[in-house]
Amino acid sequence: MFPDDLRDWQSRLRDQFPILTAHPGHAYLDSAATAQKPQAVLDAVTAYLTSENANAGRGAYPWANRTTALVDLARQRVSAFLGDPEPDRSGVHFVSGTTEGLRAVARDWLAHELRDGDEIIVPFADHAANALPWRETVDLLARQGVRVTVRPMPYDAAHDYDMRALAGMITDRTRLIATTHVHHVYGGDMNLARLRAAAGPDVVISVDAAQSAGHLPIDVAAMDADFVTFSGHKAMALPGTGVLWAANRRGPRFTPGGWSGTPNTSGIVSLTAALDWLDAAGVDRIARWTVALGARLTDGLRKLSAYEVLGCQRSLAADSPVQQRHGIVTFRHHAIGSNDLGFILAADGFMVRSDGHCQAHHGEKTSSVRVSLHVYNTVDEVDRLLDTLAGLDD
Ligand code: PLP
Repeated sequence: MFPDDLRDWQSRLRDQFPILTAHPGHAYLDSAATAQKPQAVLDAVTAYLTSENANAGRGAYPWANRTTALVDLARQRVSAFLGDPEPDRSGVHFVSGTTEGLRAVARDWLAHELRDGDEIIVPFADHAANALPWRETVDLLARQGVRVTVRPMPYDAAHDYDMRALAGMITDRTRLIATTHVHHVYGGDMNLARLRAAAGPDVVISVDAAQSAGHLPIDVAAMDADFVTFSGHKAMALPGTGVLWAANRRGPRFTPGGWSGTPNTSGIVSLTAALDWLDAAGVDRIARWTVALGARLTDGLRKLSAYEVLGCQRSLAADSPVQQRHGIVTFRHHAIGSNDLGFILAADGFMVRSDGHCQAHHGEKTSSVRVSLHVYNTVDEVDRLLDTLAGLDD
């Protein structure tokens, strides 16, 4: 059932995105790459840069003090956004995005924790940013004579994590499981609240929340996660912003390596404004909207014989109990190459992603077209896209 009760709410929210109102003939369908910014975020950044811009943590004058306070405020904001049950123990670190955050966990924490004979589990069908850093750390340790076994995360035929197989892989040497909250190609919610039961009490769980932050509620307590990383720019903040949250409950406290240097202060200010905006909009409602739009798109595509929708086929039905899809729909045309299809759609004003989507090496073998939706996307955009795709059907 389409959530018609959300139509007015959605329309009021869409009007707050100046780039979208300025380009009415275009449909931005690439929010998994980066999200558009509401006026409130742009205003917060302009206000900061035109009234109190300074460096943080240095200087005794008011602008510097205020900037330091704004960075602290952003940390509190992130903690609240993630449902952090113990903000005094945990740490919020600002990074440039998920890639840098995951790399920091691998390099600044895991590399110091692993011992000869340890094992880690890595999701090689997820984003490369959640596969390569772990591998890099293991290779580095191997050069120092520390041998660590990397086990691929098991998936079932529906592209879901195979919990039974995962539980069978855990040994007393398993130190880390790297996971993804929402898959960036299939859009499936990987339902991480069930993970701790399979992992046991001691294994560190790292969550790549790049595609879930701002799309569905993230509850770090329910996941019993140790690290959560997300890209601020995909959650409506400025480019170059990201978050690495560390629970600091298992093993030594996480401290980022190197010298911290000057933080991305305007990016951090934008993140506070973006999380305020998302919470005021209601992340639950955003999830209902994007799930419904995605379902409308998959339903439409399934009626067209030239297209194959990737991912769990059982989850294609809007009321499917498995792996609800969060506004990411990826497909191929059986005769038109994905890049060509991307160009055809671009000529009609549809901005989609067409390539291999940075999937790590157990990913899809050929490229595809990804449509990724956010709260500002409309039913009309989805229906117009389907009309255009139908024109290319057999
Ligand atoms: N992880 C996932 C699941 C992603 O979708 C992406 C970006 O598309 C990343 C990590 C990398 O994010 P960033 O480019 O912001 O570092």
